[in-house]
Amino acid sequence: MPVQTAGQIELVHKRVKDVKLYIDGEFIESVSGKTFENVNPFTNEVNNLVAEGGKEEIDRAVAAAKRAFEEGPWGRMKLEERLSCIHRIADLIDDAAEEIAYLESLDTGLPISQTRKQTARAAKNFRFYASMVETGLHGDSYPVDDEFINYTVYKPLGPIGLITPWNAPFMLETWKVAPALATGNTVILKPAELSPLTANKLAEIMDQAGLPKGVFNVVHGFGETAGAALVAHPDVKAISFTGETTTGSTIIKNAADTLKKTSMELGGKSPLIVFDDADLDRALDAAVWGIFSFNGERCTANSRVFLHKNIKDEFVEKLKQRVMKIKIGDPMDTGTQLGPLIEKQHFNKVNSYIELAKEEGCEVIQGIVPEEVKAGNFVPPTLLLNAKNEMRVCQEEIFGPVMAVIEFEEEEEVIKAANDVRYGLAGFVWTNDMKRGHRVAQAVEAGMIWINAQNVRDLRIPFGGMKDSGIGREGGRYALFEFYTEPKVIHVSIGDHHIPQFGK
Ligand code: NAD
Repeated sequence: MPVQTAGQIELVHKRVKDVKLYIDGEFIESVSGKTFENVNPFTNEVNNLVAEGGKEEIDRAVAAAKRAFEEGPWGRMKLEERLSCIHRIADLIDDAAEEIAYLESLDTGLPISQTRKQTARAAKNFRFYASMVETGLHGDSYPVDDEFINYTVYKPLGPIGLITPWNAPFMLETWKVAPALATGNTVILKPAELSPLTANKLAEIMDQAGLPKGVFNVVHGFGETAGAALVAHPDVKAISFTGETTTGSTIIKNAADTLKKTSMELGGKSPLIVFDDADLDRALDAAVWGIFSFNGERCTANSRVFLHKNIKDEFVEKLKQRVMKIKIGDPMDTGTQLGPLIEKQHFNKVNSYIELAKEEGCEVIQGIVPEEVKAGNFVPPTLLLNAKNEMRVCQEEIFGPVMAVIEFEEEEEVIKAANDVRYGLAGFVWTNDMKRGHRVAQAVEAGMIWINAQNVRDLRIPFGGMKDSGIGREGGRYALFEFYTEPKVIHVSIGDHHIPQFGK
């Protein structure tokens, strides 16, 4: 097969350059010189070595971010100048889009057709927040008779720690970095240890964009060391975290000592409910895409599908046909729909859930992994049929291409089952009865619900979950007003109001 190219880049699996830390505008090794290996999920060979940061490197990065915020030009820069930096970053992402998509696929095993879309989205994150800050970030005024005028201003917080996962690294990192910088904060990013490549590319872009030293820093390393040091640091004003629920809970505990603001985007086990009056073809497309895109490693994946009993058999037959036809293969192949899972340990975890499903009484239907890609961490698209909501495979986040299929009969029954889970991130309802659609959408406990739609995201909406899926919302004005800035009220006397005269 001829090698496909993306611009100047040959889409082949090969070793790439080693990755350093980016602190105070310099690419540096860790103080101890320690590195760790970054492994390619398709070949299970080493992609490169990564400089391993820990407490010492975090201390340096936070000091640089603090200096840049308090003394450097960033804090005093005119808004127009700051936002033109943000636009420059977006343009540079566009220029490097093919390289970013390639590195992302090399690092994560996500199909290149999907990492290209995520990269385009990443550039949009910067443009969107630049325009939102320009037009929307303003306070209110509160006149009090003719005595006072009170007004609010929204101030950046200072150095902010961003801790991100490996499942859609570049997109999720920029989703946090863009509002953090656009509002005038400085940033220390701790990317997931399993996906360091595009975070490093982002540092190169920041460098090229001419961001003042220390405004943006990247410290690679492990969660328990680098991540924990960032959370504990007294000069870090807030932590925005995306990752597993258990990690989020640890971070909240550790952030308490320094009374940090935290934002938590956590795990999910989202229901997709199909009633018997739904457009079944579209519901089928959405259900299949919603669990098997991003290799099933998607926080909002519809990992529990509830089918009305009247349409269940027909729907399941079609699901089986789809599962057999999903194109499993090399993430660099533009036709690939499902790639390998991030690492061997995660591959073993997902497979152990499939074994558990058999023990719990599910019929397991799987696609077939082609012989020639067996070196990768491939789990084929998997259906767990005859599942019951109380089974562990329906209660725990598997985070792979595994969909449990559960039958229901009554609206009330399905709402109860959809809510009988610790998570509450997303939900999807398919019906042509609009009254019912809204009723069910309002009753399902989740931060985000789609009616007759797959997961399409509007950057303006509040993004996040309830229950064990998160605390707080990011996205749109929610990111700007509720997380990355602090409101401050200024009371101005415009008359001679009464002041008590103690001791006169
Ligand atoms: P993870 O929690 O293992 O790791 C996420 C990040 O936290 C990594 O950078 C890791 O190094 C760091 N970390 C780990 N322990 C830490 C500690 N004690 N202190 C500070 N940092 C620490 O998650 P993951 O496996 O990388 O990602 C998958 C999870 O992310 C899934 O549960 C998925 O649902 C969730 N996720 C949620 C959303 C959302 O928006 N709600 C989006 C994407 C992924």
